[in-house]
Amino acid sequence: PTMAHSEALLVLENFIGGKFVPCSSYIDSYNPSTGDVYCRVPDSGKEEVEAAVKAAKDAFRLWSSRSPLERSRILNKLADLIEHDLEAFAQAESKDQGKTVKFARTVDIPRAVHNFRFFASSILHRVTECTEMPAMGCVHYTSRAPVGVAGLISPWNLPLYLLTWKIAPAIACGNTVVAKPSEMTSVTAWMMCKLMEKAGVPPGVVNVVFGTGAKAGEALVCHPDVPLISFTGSTLTAQRITEKSAPHCKRLSLELGGKNPAIIFDDADLSQCIPTTVRSSFANQGEICLCTSRIFVQRGIYNEFLKKFVAETKKWNTGQPSDPTIDIGALISKEHLEKVRNYVKKAQAEGARVLCGEGVDSLALPPGNQKGYFMLPTVIAEVKDESCCMQEEIFGPVTCVVAFDTEEEVIERANGVKYGLAATVWSRDVGRVHRVARRLQCGLVWTNCWLVRDLNLPFGGMKASGIGREGAKDSYEFFTEVKTITIKH
Ligand code: NAD
Repeated sequence: PTMAHSEALLVLENFIGGKFVPCSSYIDSYNPSTGDVYCRVPDSGKEEVEAAVKAAKDAFRLWSSRSPLERSRILNKLADLIEHDLEAFAQAESKDQGKTVKFARTVDIPRAVHNFRFFASSILHRVTECTEMPAMGCVHYTSRAPVGVAGLISPWNLPLYLLTWKIAPAIACGNTVVAKPSEMTSVTAWMMCKLMEKAGVPPGVVNVVFGTGAKAGEALVCHPDVPLISFTGSTLTAQRITEKSAPHCKRLSLELGGKNPAIIFDDADLSQCIPTTVRSSFANQGEICLCTSRIFVQRGIYNEFLKKFVAETKKWNTGQPSDPTIDIGALISKEHLEKVRNYVKKAQAEGARVLCGEGVDSLALPPGNQKGYFMLPTVIAEVKDESCCMQEEIFGPVTCVVAFDTEEEVIERANGVKYGLAATVWSRDVGRVHRVARRLQCGLVWTNCWLVRDLNLPFGGMKASGIGREGAKDSYEFFTEVKTITIKH
């Protein structure tokens, strides 16, 4: 890949103890929409993680003794400062990740702001429990305290959004943190560090160490003074983190991959279902853990659905991420693009039909984007349930559509994968919606909608999609240690 000569390379630094610290070696980071190296990210290892953990440990005593109200004010200030720079953050997220500016501006950055505001508020409303035993002359109550230094590891698909979903509850509860964003998308985390001092976040409360998973990530996971790890990423990495942290008995929250079904019954309102299912399949280039990738359509409406679904998909434009008419930007990397394309090739080799997108339609890109990692939204039909396209997480703009006959059958097929993150169910029959939702093996079920979230309620997956839940109460419980105290009077 060529360097972007027209502009100087952006060079990031670690943020440790409230100071920006250079690193001895760096990793190249690419602009996915041009294929150029445009940024250098610290290649941190044990030494940098050690310094960050020390800073976080030193800051813990004071930060954990502040009142929830004091911490809440600081989180709100940080939210205001990010919101003030929303456009700059959105542009940076798009350039770094490949997503459209439109998506970053309306989803990623507003949600990052909201994460801080939400936990700034929710921390003020948490109460502990109390029970009485009059016959024994005892009262029992629970007390909760922050755990210490939290290790936070986040992926590349929703960079600032998912990182702040961890930082906000961790520090709201009085922990201090060492965060490691994905080495492929580090820029917005670094920009946020620049706002910490102004927001009043004391030095050492939030430390960010940049680098790869194998070096920086693992050093954090293995550090004896980091008792809890909140991780979002792939199932494979989660297995490795579980093994590495086992000798220390660390507390883990693991938010992992998905292979999410959409179940569309013949009484569904297709005027709502089709545009929403196109969005749930292709939003953010299909690079959201919650994206739909297996669409089960009841046989009576299968042909009609397919025709309308393909027509709706074709309305989604792929290209230059800053162009407001574009809906699908670039995929994260050249390697990932190849991987996603290979799934389409495998499906074709197995006899499935590619109805639109990859290998079927042509993609015209502006001259500056010829080397970007673009791919058209792709719809595949007649894929066997046991095919890798129906079993493995593709994490790109590819969705499979298959027919089913009965409710019983579709529940079994929808549950027939190792993952269990999210599902959507489309039907106007209220009884059926409840029945099906109860039996689906996944942490989230959306009926007649997708990705409508109330952050108060638990978020997370079953089976290979994760362990633990995050949300107002769940994150509070994860980021605090509970104690039961009994008083005899
Ligand atoms: P990944 O597992 O490769 O990396 C995630 C993070 O872990 C990165 O910061 C990476 O550097 C780090 N890492 C990698 N190896 C490590 C190791 N040995 N020790 C410690 N840290 C390590 O995942 P990705 O490719 O960045 O993200 C895509 C995956 O994330 C998909 O599977 C997607 O479904 C999942 N995801 C899940 C959710 C959810 O909430 N369930 C949300 C978004 C993404």
